[in-house]
Amino acid sequence: MISRRQLFASSFAAAPAFAQSRGRRRPNILFIMSDDHASHAISAHGSKINETPNIDRLAKGGLRLDNCFVTNSICTPSRACILTGQYSHLNGVKTLNDSIDPKTIHVGHLLRNAGYQTAMIGKWHLQTSPEGFDFWRILPGQGLYYDPVFTHQDGSRQKYQGYCTDLIADFTLDWLKTGRDKSKPFFLMCHHKAPHRDWTPPKKYQDWLKDETVPEPGNLYEDISKRSAAAQRATLRVGDDMTKTDLKVDRPAGLEGRELRKWAYQLYIKDYLRCVRSVDDNVGRLLDYLDAEGLAEDTLVIYTSDQGFFLGDHGWYDKRFMYEETMRMPFLARYPKLIRPGSTNRDIILNIDFAPTFLALAGQKAPATMQGESFAPQLQGKTPKKWRKSMYYRYWMHLGGGHTVTAHYGVRSHAHKLIYYYGQALGSKGAVDTPTPPEWEMFDLIKDPREMKNVYGEPAYAKVQSELKAELDRLRTYYRDQV
Ligand code: CA
Repeated sequence: MISRRQLFASSFAAAPAFAQSRGRRRPNILFIMSDDHASHAISAHGSKINETPNIDRLAKGGLRLDNCFVTNSICTPSRACILTGQYSHLNGVKTLNDSIDPKTIHVGHLLRNAGYQTAMIGKWHLQTSPEGFDFWRILPGQGLYYDPVFTHQDGSRQKYQGYCTDLIADFTLDWLKTGRDKSKPFFLMCHHKAPHRDWTPPKKYQDWLKDETVPEPGNLYEDISKRSAAAQRATLRVGDDMTKTDLKVDRPAGLEGRELRKWAYQLYIKDYLRCVRSVDDNVGRLLDYLDAEGLAEDTLVIYTSDQGFFLGDHGWYDKRFMYEETMRMPFLARYPKLIRPGSTNRDIILNIDFAPTFLALAGQKAPATMQGESFAPQLQGKTPKKWRKSMYYRYWMHLGGGHTVTAHYGVRSHAHKLIYYYGQALGSKGAVDTPTPPEWEMFDLIKDPREMKNVYGEPAYAKVQSELKAELDRLRTYYRDQV
């Protein structure tokens, strides 16, 4: 096991200086984030079910992170982690029912204080109004796919005609064209609602894929009764746990079991991919604008999503679990002055690292309260010798949010994953106060990358199991999560 000192090296102390010391102009930062877009629905990340030609432009011209993970796989908490550089237990946004304290100082404030012009457009989903931005326009709550209302900075609300993904890109382009102070670098967050449930596609794509069959994941019909009690308890099943709003049509009478799953998967995944296609189109519009205005060279463009998503994997949809499909975030970054085109990186990078990285690129030192580390070195193709070799994860919303996912925490290294379902609500908002028996899961990610076989308790894994337990304890102490 690696030591705490090795894990959190101070090799980035030098990073904040590089933006200035080498006389570089500080980059503009365009942070494009969608909601629930799994990396296995992005062709640059190896999708077998769709093409995303515009998002792929970022991969061709920049860097793809292959092990970028969310620390709590659910919408509102991930957004708070990204802004604050802190785990949920420190920033106070542990579940969907928590809100960010408007007094919280986050990366928006810090970049603004450092001379950036800051803007936030689209899905905010942190309940209180945004702070730390020179301009914002957000969807109230989840927002609507069609003719959505937006909340303006003065508190007024207005309904706009059109499709949500197009409108968010329109507003982003409007701000770039008319809102921007050209004397300053900008930090612009463009947050799409799509492809979040209920996966309502744009009208122009509603018949796309109609006559095609989207490939199924190999474990779409997995027998969940062979998994943990936590997995069996979860109501994430494609078909059985979907509503008419999700599927947009009535379930045919008598359809059940495997046939129901097969039928529902096609309806679900086609609508999901139609939403993704619109996101990809609108990423292309933003990239075209940067090209046309000569801004592409000076702008770090990122595409990511607040977490991953099950696309029929294990027979499921949704997120929350510390399984690969949902904890992995897509992450593509292009900045020609720093990032080599077509590069990839396999270091373990977390959503709490985003804010320290942006600060480093702006020539700023991250405050000590931030728990993440800058991966500015990785953007330049360098892995610091002492970079972390494992990560800590925690999902708090015990049995809540309509999906009965059991609260858990765990550790993931490059080769293994250990998950502990501690089975209590612990006062978390939106959690259900019904205890469940504690249980463990452990996966060999090299032999079993799809996490089909729990090896916890197997004699062959006794040594690595005890090492992972020690590492989990160490991480919980290090990150000050002792509840
Ligand atoms: Ca989400």
